[in-house]
Amino acid sequence: MPVVSRLQLSEISPRIMQSEIRSMSVECDRIGGVNLAQGVCDTPLPAAVQEAAIHAIEDGHNIYTRLDGIALLREAIAAKLAHYNGITADPHGEVLVTSGATAALYAALLALLNPGDAVVMFEPFYGYHLNTLLSMRLLPTLIPMAKGTWEIDFDQVRASITPNTRAIIINSPSNPCGKVFTRAELETLATIAIEHDLFVITDEIYEYFLYDGTRHISPATIPGMAGRTIGISGFSKTFSITGWRAGYLWASKEWMPSIAYFHDLTYVCAPSIAQYGAAAGLAQLTDDFYATLSTEYGQKRDQLCSALSAAGMEPSVPPGAYYVLADATAIPGADAKQKARTLLKETGVASVAGSAFFGVDKNGRNRGENLLRFCFAKKEHDLKRACDALRARS
Ligand code: PMP
Repeated sequence: MPVVSRLQLSEISPRIMQSEIRSMSVECDRIGGVNLAQGVCDTPLPAAVQEAAIHAIEDGHNIYTRLDGIALLREAIAAKLAHYNGITADPHGEVLVTSGATAALYAALLALLNPGDAVVMFEPFYGYHLNTLLSMRLLPTLIPMAKGTWEIDFDQVRASITPNTRAIIINSPSNPCGKVFTRAELETLATIAIEHDLFVITDEIYEYFLYDGTRHISPATIPGMAGRTIGISGFSKTFSITGWRAGYLWASKEWMPSIAYFHDLTYVCAPSIAQYGAAAGLAQLTDDFYATLSTEYGQKRDQLCSALSAAGMEPSVPPGAYYVLADATAIPGADAKQKARTLLKETGVASVAGSAFFGVDKNGRNRGENLLRFCFAKKEHDLKRACDALRARS
C-alpha cells in the first residue's frame, strides 16, 4: 500500500462545492417557505411546446438524435436567429442543439481553450460560468462592474489582458444583476476582442426578458465579431422548461465540429422529446408571445422591487433577466449567507447570498456581502405570498 492513498479527489474538487443556491432551496423546502433563491422558473409552459413533446413520445421519437440535433429544430433556430437576433447561421453546420445552455458552454470551452488560459468575465457573474472555467483549469479574470449602475471600466478590461487571455464571457441580460449590454459597450468590447484576438462567448439565455423598452443586441452582430463569437441560448427560461435540458449554440463552421464533438462526448445529444417540443414552440409562437412574456415579467419585477423597498432592502432595478440584487445592509448577519438565513427565518422567503456572484477585494472581503439576490420567475400566488411576507417585515 502506498503511504499516501491514491484514492484522492482531484485538485479542483474541493473548490466545487454544493452551490449556495441549492442549499438555500433545501432549507426553504424544510421550513415550507417561498423559494425566490433558485431560478427554477415554475411558470406554466406554452401549450404548443407541451403538445409537441407529448406527440414526440406517442410517435416513438425515443432514440438518439443526430449529434447536432434534429433538422426541424436547427432550421427553426436559424430562422429565429435571423428574425430576432439579426444573425445569419447555416442550420447545417453553424447551429448545434445542446443539453441546455450549460452543456453548450461546457462543450465550447473544451473545444476552444486549454488549461491555464485566462478568460475575462464581468462581476457580478453567474456562478456556473465561473465554476465551469475552474473545472476546466481555466483562469477567470474578474472585472467588477460599478455597483448599481453596472458600468464597465474598459481601461480595467484592457489592463487585465495578458498573453494567456483567450476569451471574454458576456452574459446579457445578466444573471444576477439584469444588466443589458448597450451597443456602445459591445462595440468597445468588440474592439478589445479584435485587437487582442480573443473569442467572445456570449450567454444570451435571457434575451427575451427585457423591460422598459430595453433592446437585446447579440454581440455576433457587431461588425468583425461573427467569426470569433460563440453564441449560447436556450429554451429553459423562455418556454419554462428548465428540466427538459434544451438549448443551443451558434458559431462559425471553423469551430463547430470540435464543439459538437465535445457535446457528443459528454451528452450524446439533447433529449429528443425536448427537441420536438422546442421546435414547435419556435415555429408556432409569434412575436406576441415574447412581448407578453416581457410585459408579465416586467410586472413581476415591479411587484418584487416595491416589496423589497418596503422591507428596507433597496433593489437595483434590473432592465433585463429575472433576478433582483437588493441591498441587505438592514438585515442582521455578519455576511450575506447569514443575512439570507435571517431573512428566511423572519419572512419565509429564500434568497441567495450576494457573495455567490462576486469575488473578493484586496482585503479578502467578498464584494457581495451586503447583497441578496431574489428571483421573480414565480407563479403569481407564490410571488404575492413572498411580497406580502417581505412587506410585513417593515
Ligand atoms: N445561463 C445563465 C446566465 C443562467 O442564469 C442559467 C440558469 N440559471 C443558465 C445559463 C442555464 O441554462 P440551461 O437550463 O439552458 O442550461
